[in-house]
Amino acid sequence: MFKSEPPINIPTRPTQAEIDLDRLRYNLRSIRKFIGESHLVMAVVKADAYGHGAIQCAQALEKEGVDWFGVALPEEGIELRNAEITTPILCFGNWPGQEDAMLFQNLTPVVYQIERAAAFDAAAARLNQTAKLHIKIDTGMGRVGVPATEVADFAVALKQFQNVEVEGLMTHFAAADEVVSDQTNLQMRLFAAAAETFHANGFQPELIDMANSPGAIVHPDSRATMVRIGGLLYGLGGDVLPRDFPGPDLRPVLSLRSHISYVKTVPTGTTIGYGGTFLTERESVIATVPIGYHDGLPRVLSNNGSVLVNGKRAPIVGRVSMDWTIIDVTDVGDASVGTEVVLLGEQLGQKIRAEDLAELATTISYEITCGLGSRVPRVYLDCAEAG
Ligand SMILES: *Cc1c(COP(=O)(O)O)cnc(C)c1O
Repeated sequence: MFKSEPPINIPTRPTQAEIDLDRLRYNLRSIRKFIGESHLVMAVVKADAYGHGAIQCAQALEKEGVDWFGVALPEEGIELRNAEITTPILCFGNWPGQEDAMLFQNLTPVVYQIERAAAFDAAAARLNQTAKLHIKIDTGMGRVGVPATEVADFAVALKQFQNVEVEGLMTHFAAADEVVSDQTNLQMRLFAAAAETFHANGFQPELIDMANSPGAIVHPDSRATMVRIGGLLYGLGGDVLPRDFPGPDLRPVLSLRSHISYVKTVPTGTTIGYGGTFLTERESVIATVPIGYHDGLPRVLSNNGSVLVNGKRAPIVGRVSMDWTIIDVTDVGDASVGTEVVLLGEQLGQKIRAEDLAELATTISYEITCGLGSRVPRVYLDCAEAG
């Protein structure tokens, strides 16, 4: 049937996430300018860079000279090392059995249990190296970390290990988005006391870090030697910073676009989608878009959200299903098969931000981009690379 080679790659579907690496770099520069050059910046690229693609984002940020990367899992760090990322990588989580591979790949562990320190000490001895650890103190997040009340015992116990070095001391804020925050102030005081205890026990951690995105912006005194920035890098976080708080200028990095697959004109009284939850009240032009909740469009946007078509808002009608979403294009001008639909991003001067979708879905912008499905092709824009 095929005269030459059979085609083995299928062209991509008409739904894609566009990631603008120029904007990512712009956001890093903007954040650095805002917080001052004297603080190191760790770019948090866990969860596939909040859905933006960890390898591509890390490569762009490494070229921009970011100081550290932060990931949740050692597996995520290994993915970056395999892509030839050489910048230091901190793994916020790690589990028994992962020590040798982590040290071998030069991934830095966060540790808060003495058994884990012992395991890294033993692994370092086996590999004939010194393991650099970052010790996490729980000053009020209540999630993981050495309890603030047990710091002294922990520091004393750490002294028994010959093959580990405490390179960093960190904590994580629970409520840094509050402008006046007793909790954040308490966390900073407890953390300063923990640092003193480590010093008194002969440890000299060179990295002292507390601040996540809201901490770095809202609480200048939490910037210490390094800030750990996730959301803001991706231009997210309008909803994790206090409303109207003066922060760095940021640009959303990701947009989500699709194209109409099918259009029909239906009479008054037509039901649309699963459960027939939408009933047309007039003759309507109804279009189907090939994106669904598996792709990350929250099902709670059923009969609730809207999308951009021709720079105008077209409401989502009926239930968002796994692979399809139905929209009412009666009032948005010419819409036919192939017309662009913007679910997230800009079109002809109009925009839908992740924060807007998040508000409708009663979540935060981070969950919207993290929730983009694996079958949504990521397309990277990079003017710097294009020359
Ligand atoms: C995710 C994470 C961050 C980044 O938080 P953002 O609000 O996205 O800046 C910082 N530190 C730790 C420990 C984290 O887990």
